[in-house]
Amino acid sequence: MHTSDYRTRLYRFSWLIVLTAICLLTAGSLRNTREKESSDVFVPGPKSPIQTHYSPGEITELSEAAERTAVASLDAIAALSEDGCTFDTTVLAFDRIMTDYADAVCPLVLMGHVYPEAGIAAEGVSCEESASVFATRVYTRRDLYDALREQTPRTPEESRLYDITIREFEKNGLKLSEERLATVREMKTELGRLETQYSANLNNDTTTLEFSADELAGIPATTLVTFQETQQGTFQVTLKYPDYRAVMTYAEDPETRRRMYAAYNNRQADTNTALLEDAIVLRQKIARELGYSTWADYRTHGRMAGNTTTVMDFLTTMQESLKEKCRDEMAELLVIKKDLNPEATTVDPWDVTYLQEIQKKEEYAYDEEEVREYFPVDTVLQGLFETYGTLFQIGFAEISDALVWSPDVRLFALNSLADNSTIGYLYLDLYPREGKYGHFCASEAISGRIMDGTYSLPVMTIIGNFHKPEENRPSLLTITEIETLFHEAGHGMHYLLTQAPYGTLSGFNVEWDFVETPSQTLEEWVWDPEVLESLSGHYKTSGKIPESLRDRIIASRCAGAGNLYSRLLLNSLEDMRFHTATEPVDVTEVWYQTHEDVTGTRPPAGTHQPASFGHLMGGYDAGYYGYLWSKVYALNIVDVFRETGMTNRALGMKFRDEILSKGNMDDGMVLLENFLGREPGTDALCRYLGIDISQE
Ligand SMILES: [Zn+2]
Repeated sequence: MHTSDYRTRLYRFSWLIVLTAICLLTAGSLRNTREKESSDVFVPGPKSPIQTHYSPGEITELSEAAERTAVASLDAIAALSEDGCTFDTTVLAFDRIMTDYADAVCPLVLMGHVYPEAGIAAEGVSCEESASVFATRVYTRRDLYDALREQTPRTPEESRLYDITIREFEKNGLKLSEERLATVREMKTELGRLETQYSANLNNDTTTLEFSADELAGIPATTLVTFQETQQGTFQVTLKYPDYRAVMTYAEDPETRRRMYAAYNNRQADTNTALLEDAIVLRQKIARELGYSTWADYRTHGRMAGNTTTVMDFLTTMQESLKEKCRDEMAELLVIKKDLNPEATTVDPWDVTYLQEIQKKEEYAYDEEEVREYFPVDTVLQGLFETYGTLFQIGFAEISDALVWSPDVRLFALNSLADNSTIGYLYLDLYPREGKYGHFCASEAISGRIMDGTYSLPVMTIIGNFHKPEENRPSLLTITEIETLFHEAGHGMHYLLTQAPYGTLSGFNVEWDFVETPSQTLEEWVWDPEVLESLSGHYKTSGKIPESLRDRIIASRCAGAGNLYSRLLLNSLEDMRFHTATEPVDVTEVWYQTHEDVTGTRPPAGTHQPASFGHLMGGYDAGYYGYLWSKVYALNIVDVFRETGMTNRALGMKFRDEILSKGNMDDGMVLLENFLGREPGTDALCRYLGIDISQE
């Protein structure tokens, strides 16, 4: 399994501090221009649940208007007389105002990451920056804090909202003196600016590498034609995911892979390294002002892990247990490498994916290119909709003539099978574009919540970077890509099936180290033989994948697990080392050291991976460990399904009711125990990895 993109499957924009985290981008396609002209004010409807076309200046105007409205409404809370202050006019009003604001700006922020016209996308990026500044300003307002804190909740639901809202104010420094609070506010504003700039730099990276046909030997002809050919007969290869993955999997020449690996791990080195290092120093100062020793202590407070020590203990235990597994895998890969080059003594980082692919061919007798032919994107989507549809009793209906920001974006309505009512909308933006966010993520636009007595219709987008369809071939997905799609759609289910009453607690606005639980649970369905078969249909013949090939694919899964999990562990440790430091950090050096500690090898000289580790500037700072942490819970949930069948409808509905629908209305651990009927344990992960971590 390929690892480098695992870490960016969900990219959350961290601009609203408690609140919504993931934002959608929208952009205008030509075909909705006419509709746009007919009315100046956008009115959502089934063909366009969010605005998807913008004229120059419009995003900026809408963003400013949203902020003005929110500030006026928040000022009104602060100005209430003592008699006028009730739970409704303060805490509930605050949730409503912040959710209204999020619903207004999330689609605009999304534009910054997907809009096809650069000028308008740039407005979206600025909007993200203002949203981050706005959130900091709000959560450091003492007048609001005082008005809210005085209130008494009347129900358990209100208590939950009250506790989390007040905690967020306090985590932003409301217990400090006015002077120190002002310092925190200023530093957080600056931090938001650094984070936005860092992501914008990554999205706008246009690095290409030039290779001769010889240097690209081994790459399938069907992929080669997607590279831009120059007049000299060489090929321009971008660092977008499909190009990168193809080279790392198939290029026979190690030097080609080394160059690609080095360039990929050197994206925005000149700009983003400094931005990250500055952010880390600012975070240290903020943490100290707020009374925490380190940024990691600050960030883990209020999460499932609760503190840095628990996280580090968990990671250290994993590290010890994975070492042997990883060493065995590397030894197997070295044997393969020696067949190719008898003088080889080590496996380099740019060899791993390539050698794993050979291993698949040799040991499991399949070739990823051959496998992809069974998985055209539409067939996979149909299978995914059926799988999730059966489990959660929902249907997905594509909306024809939907208004979208780019012609290749599709819109689906999510319907409840119980009464055929629409319960939400899902956009799919699956192919690379210049200036677009470069990985895979689930991104919110409109929150679920109770409004005027009825439940709102949440809207979200899955952003992907699959191979584009070609003239004679649809987009064909690898197994890893299918797993990623199930993962992001898992976030989608968490977001769209929410029934939490409050916008700030709905969808995936949960504890940061719980957020990857539903997505990592649902990605496991891909590995069920029946489900995998249901996703297949050869693009030429529509034939299902042969049983023996299917079983070999499933059997090969564990072959690279040690490497995959070591990569997750490496990135988690790297993140924690950055954020437990108390002095300025040389991020490149720490990355080198951590790489060596975890894998036993040093990355190539001159590379700067921290400059493109988007999670650390996108809300996962001191939070990347959440992937591993959540996987423990995800596998506990999957075990329950395995006992009764992965397509068990009753259990699917229990998962929907006990976990997906709840949002942040209870702690993750409570939700888990309600579903499992017991405490979660690490056995499932151990079995999965074939390791022993029982000493914990
Ligand atoms: Zn995710």
